[in-house]
Amino acid sequence: MLVGDLPPGDKWRQFELKAIGLRDFARLRPDLPLDPFDLAQFANLIVVRFDELQELNDSAREHLLGPAAEQWSGGACTLPNGMKLVVLNPNHGRARTNATLMEEICHVFLGHEPNRLSIVTKDERGKVMARDYRKADEEEAYGVGAAALVPYSALKRMLLRGKKSAEIASHFRVSRELVEYRMKVTRLWSEFRKATVER
Ligand SMILES: [Zn+2]
Repeated sequence: MLVGDLPPGDKWRQFELKAIGLRDFARLRPDLPLDPFDLAQFANLIVVRFDELQELNDSAREHLLGPAAEQWSGGACTLPNGMKLVVLNPNHGRARTNATLMEEICHVFLGHEPNRLSIVTKDERGKVMARDYRKADEEEAYGVGAAALVPYSALKRMLLRGKKSAEIASHFRVSRELVEYRMKVTRLWSEFRKATVER
């Protein structure tokens, strides 16, 4: 690995190294899109489709898909056998779902322990959690997940080749917001913002 493959800043360098570890585990080159659904199996994660939830009554179902649809992207709980179950919002597009699932996978890979005392809560990104993680764990899981989805080295190379954030987003199957978030936290934003945003 080259020094230039890691972003500046201690925290983001640590996140990047963990994300690189995840990609190595999946034997995936940094320039290829990562499919979190493939990775979920390795993490002992069972991904359940919303329509597979049979115990949910009609009013809860209608609420979660109707008025509350923007307020949650996924939820997770641990089963007695230690496997983790994740439910994803079926109304969110693939790009958003990939980021949500990747975060849940990272909680598992990073060994985060859920806070057992919390009940259903909403985090600052509006995500409803059946069980809460500590705030630092949330930041790490989201940050490492985003780094695994959009690796710094590949992001930088694509920007140098003149790619727009929207093109990079569709290549990695994530939202443009996630690409721009990665550009900001890895300090590529100030350098490439003009080229990315202006047409
Ligand atoms: Zn989380």
